[in-house]
Amino acid sequence: MKPSTPLPRFCIHTMTTKPWSLEDCAKHYPTVGATGITVWRQHLQGQDPKKAGAMLRDAGLEIVSLCRGGFFPAPSPSRRQAAIEDNMRAIEEAQALGAPLIVLVCGAVPGQPLEESRKQIADGIAAVLPFATKAGVKLAIEPLHPMYADDRSAINTTKQANDVCDALGSPEGLGIAVDVYHVWWDDALEANIKVTAEKERLFAFHVCDWKTPTTDILNDRGLMGEGCIPIRKIKGWVEASGFSGHNEVEIFSTRYWDMDQGEYLKLIAKAYQEHVA
Ligand code: ZN
Repeated sequence: MKPSTPLPRFCIHTMTTKPWSLEDCAKHYPTVGATGITVWRQHLQGQDPKKAGAMLRDAGLEIVSLCRGGFFPAPSPSRRQAAIEDNMRAIEEAQALGAPLIVLVCGAVPGQPLEESRKQIADGIAAVLPFATKAGVKLAIEPLHPMYADDRSAINTTKQANDVCDALGSPEGLGIAVDVYHVWWDDALEANIKVTAEKERLFAFHVCDWKTPTTDILNDRGLMGEGCIPIRKIKGWVEASGFSGHNEVEIFSTRYWDMDQGEYLKLIAKAYQEHVA
């Protein structure tokens, strides 16, 4: 397929087209105008990240970030140490790939108080941040919707993410990824996006949509325009605060993964043009 006009801020997460290999993504994303790619670690498995990075850049794609690090809280010190070591490996992968940013899904332990998990998250970030900074890789905390507070993230609002950054002394290499799926409901979102930007820590912006009903809390996200998230309004707040990075399409959807991915990619591009660009 002939490449369409490149859209300078259009990025797609490899998880969005999960059945495709990284080579498939490199071949097909530019045909619909995508200029950015966020690579999920599972799409790197068994590959030399350095070569993978070169392949993506040769295809005309800017590597926006590597997903994901995090999952710091654990019930025992040895498991928390294992998490830190896994984040170190992610940082090495990002450096070799040429990804300037790692997105953190911070983690939580069912039954452990959220404030304890938040403390463990801050400790975990503090442990890996010097290593990341030395590697030239930034870290972005992604607040997750509270329905994931049991086992995926004890950081559920942009304010809580800002609090962790503040508690760690606002290091330059630590910021926030705003994903509309997770934060659209928050009445303090606009104010906290403003704070995030003022502190120069708004590092990434992810889009998809919230379907009604949502039949699976992880894998039933919608294409932009298919749900109730005011994407343009939130994008407006993000841009008013000076953000000019990529709009990253990140959709987990069993329904769409079951489709022909080439046809799905066309739907993604259409939804992007109509509801984001
Ligand atoms: Zn996201």
